[in-house]
Amino acid sequence: MISEVVKSNELQKIDPVFGQLSFDNHEQVVFCNDKDTGLKAIIGIHNTVLGPALGGTRMWQYNSEWEALNDVLRLSRGMTYKSAITGLNLGGGKAVIIGNAKTEKTPELMKRFGEFVHSLSGRYITAEDVGMETEDMDLVRTVTPYVTGISEAKGGAGNPSPITAYGVFMGMKAAAKYTFGSDILEDKVIYVEGIGNVGEALVENLTNEGAKVYIADINQERLEEVRDKYSVDIYRGNNLYAEPMDIYAPCALGATVNDTTIHQLQAKVIAGAANNQLADGKKHGMMLRERGIVYAPDFLINAGGIINVYAELENYGRQEIIRKTENIYNTTLEILTNAETDGVTTHKAALDIAQSRIDAKKNN
Ligand code: NAD
Repeated sequence: MISEVVKSNELQKIDPVFGQLSFDNHEQVVFCNDKDTGLKAIIGIHNTVLGPALGGTRMWQYNSEWEALNDVLRLSRGMTYKSAITGLNLGGGKAVIIGNAKTEKTPELMKRFGEFVHSLSGRYITAEDVGMETEDMDLVRTVTPYVTGISEAKGGAGNPSPITAYGVFMGMKAAAKYTFGSDILEDKVIYVEGIGNVGEALVENLTNEGAKVYIADINQERLEEVRDKYSVDIYRGNNLYAEPMDIYAPCALGATVNDTTIHQLQAKVIAGAANNQLADGKKHGMMLRERGIVYAPDFLINAGGIINVYAELENYGRQEIIRKTENIYNTTLEILTNAETDGVTTHKAALDIAQSRIDAKKNN
């Protein structure tokens, strides 16, 4: 018979989902496994008060399943607040597929994943994220209607990344206006970390305005390609956070603002596309505030993509997509100002607005 002591010790080990640090009253977490295609995925549905949980699918070679679970919990929660603050009638969800998108992604695997999405009957609607392309969403579309971000040729709104980048550009301009007194980015020294789909489009916006852009990425080929296309400089050092700069734009993965980097950061503004830039929203939000670094909340300024895919559900056109995305400028400025007035972090100011919209709907 197992003793009570063993039982309670074991309990700590067997609270892998509800006991996770990143668990935040998520409504549903679905583990998907398919031996034939090698699919291992997790779908996280954080909150559906405002509408179906919409959020992209990330394919990534995680070091462990714990890391994947942690990621999907954090990302799906972020989607809830992103849609709420943007005024969209959507809840928050996200999916992760464990594996290398370059070598392990097959049409069969994507379709099988789509079947799992379909089994949720629309509680979760997917789209692309890191490691996914519009063509992958087209494949998912063959087995379920609960997918957005499909190609224009198939009636969708196409790749959301350029719109995401445009929204980040708007948020960055607002943060510059608040910090430097002008939203003109000409001659501002800006480090873009991660020059994938969004990062590259952001570099284009920034160079068009005459900013002095440095790029960093783990993909050497990509670095050279983007450098040649936009005449920007590749950062060759090993600690970009410590470089003198006006703006740091995280556009790779999350948690780059953490206990280590926060003390090194020389930027006056942080504004980028990556989700969950602060390893710990509360703690690092506070540390940034103490250091006088202006942080444009990620889930607010990277909402262009979801605005773009939401158009597929609501049938609004390009003009409305641009209008909603440009409004990120006003919301960012308002939140930075509110945070200062209320003496709270910008992260909290943004979260509070999002939460109040969810609460209002819930109590209605
Ligand atoms: P992507 O996969 O196209 O690009 C990511 C880039 O980051 C790649 O070039 C990769 O090599 C690089 N990278 C990975 N790890 C790195 C590291 N440690 N240092 C430097 N570079 C690194 O992804 P994307 O679609 O451009 O998205 C970028 C970020 O923006 C992600 O965090 C994503 O969740 C977020 N985001 C994207 C969208 C969208 O519309 N695509 C919308 C909202 C948020």
